[in-house]
Amino acid sequence: MPWLAIPFSDLDTKKALNRRFDIEGIPSLVILHPNDNKDEATLRDGVELIYRYGVEAFPFTKQRLEELQDEERARHENQTLTNLLTNHDRDNLLGHPTPEQVPVASLVGKTIGLYFSAHWCRPCVNFTPRLISIYQKIKEQMLVDGDQDGEDFEIVFVSSDRDQASFDSYFDTMPWLALPFGDPNIKQLVKHFDVKGIPCLVILGPDGKTVTKQGRNLINLYQENAYPFTEAKLELLEKKMDEEAKSLPRSVYHGGHRHELNLVSEGNGGGPFICCDCDEQGSGWAYQCLECGYEVHPKCVTVTVTVAASSNR
Ligand SMILES: [Zn+2]
Ligand SMILES: [Zn+2]
Repeated sequence: MPWLAIPFSDLDTKKALNRRFDIEGIPSLVILHPNDNKDEATLRDGVELIYRYGVEAFPFTKQRLEELQDEERARHENQTLTNLLTNHDRDNLLGHPTPEQVPVASLVGKTIGLYFSAHWCRPCVNFTPRLISIYQKIKEQMLVDGDQDGEDFEIVFVSSDRDQASFDSYFDTMPWLALPFGDPNIKQLVKHFDVKGIPCLVILGPDGKTVTKQGRNLINLYQENAYPFTEAKLELLEKKMDEEAKSLPRSVYHGGHRHELNLVSEGNGGGPFICCDCDEQGSGWAYQCLECGYEVHPKCVTVTVTVAASSNR
């Protein structure tokens, strides 16, 4: 490190600083300002700011951060599919069979999923087949419904694979399009959408603006019904789910878990969770063993044993 340090042996100071700034985890970067040591001026999320803005974050004042947030807002307001997915040297995407070239211009006006993923990432490899099956169902449904104002859906793979060979073999399994391996837009997209973990599915509307960054979660919750991921659609689905939950047993046994699991909802003992059955994220309704922190999607409970007195509501 090119900077200074508190001596290793000085435990008292280290303890005092930990207490003073409520340090709960590391790395943690607290920024103090030279002429203003009031608490409001102290920034505690230095790590996040560096990650997000890099050197631009300096001098870490409230004013500087507001400027950066305004710039970011403007970038999102001016966002179009073309400026997200093309650059100076390229206005095509990869299709199948490779090296089929698909012009980005042909995607304008469609609902687009940007799929941030990589072959080295286990949750990605688990999620991809699920996304493929849902993508195909959405496409099939469109064929059934016929042409609704030229409405269409496409996914673009945004790869963080480490080499061309893993990209090639991973993309080979996907029925959709991709940005080329190592393309400069990939880093920009990760930054623009503040992608902190993969897999991540960002949904863009027909106007090229962001609809949601929670595509993965919504796919897990609602499968193909999540399409087109708009607020209006999600409200509808939530109502439907609340309605369906009324007919679910209040408690069940599942998957060899030795305790009874209770039905909980977002506002009533539940909240975002990782399903112990399918390892995917969940929110809304869940079956939960509070004692063990065991939670599963209602849809993942296959063999259910209804516990007495559960259905007389
Ligand atoms: Zn599940
Ligand atoms: Zn338990």
